[in-house]
Amino acid sequence: VANVVKERRLRRQAAEGQFYKELSRKDGLTELYNHRFFHQLLETEVGRATRYGRSVNLIMIDIDHFKQYNDAHGHPAGDMALRKLAHVLKRCIRGCDYVARYGGEEFAIIVPEIEVRAARGMAERVRRLVDETEFEGEEVMPLGRLTVSLGVAALPVHASSKEELVDRADQALYAAKAASRNCVVVAEDDSVN
Ligand code: GH3
Ligand code: MG
Ligand code: MG
Repeated sequence: VANVVKERRLRRQAAEGQFYKELSRKDGLTELYNHRFFHQLLETEVGRATRYGRSVNLIMIDIDHFKQYNDAHGHPAGDMALRKLAHVLKRCIRGCDYVARYGGEEFAIIVPEIEVRAARGMAERVRRLVDETEFEGEEVMPLGRLTVSLGVAALPVHASSKEELVDRADQALYAAKAASRNCVVVAEDDSVN
């Protein structure tokens, strides 16, 4: 009997350990992976891709004019919009992709093993789905809708390290903001330019 009790306790502790481990990886508001775990995942994926000559794409996402949404409806309503957006993003990814909350109103999707063209297509689907999703009170936004801008970069085409990959995706996102917002920009291919 003592053994059975001990075994049950060990099993419960293991389950609890797993629960807290998972919890420590998640962002409390959106339940997406948090910034810290995002970097861990990207490190792993970049390492794997480099070893086996495969690719990793990174899609960086930032809400357009989100300050305006908060100013109009308040921070708690902004938080609800972030949660809804997180749901939309989860719907866009395959089982082997990862979506994380990178920062306040910034998100990132890690997409291993596909070509840049396909990653661009995926980013475009995200953009369209967010555009088509109804967010409460979005009529106050400049476009009358809540939208996102996206930057895409890939290893090994645009970058050869994790840091460079993040930089290049970030630059592409910045270019999307400068272009028109509510659009996708892919990093430029150095071997072509
Ligand atoms: P841009 O199109 O250039 O991205 O404009 P923006 O207003 O979205 O960009 P900016 O970086 O100036 O502001 C981001 C805003 O996002 C600031 C803040 O009000 C809001 N924000 C960031 N984190 C949170 C959060 O956790 N909750 C809420 N409700 N708002 C947040
Ligand atoms: Mg931002
Ligand atoms: Mg923004």
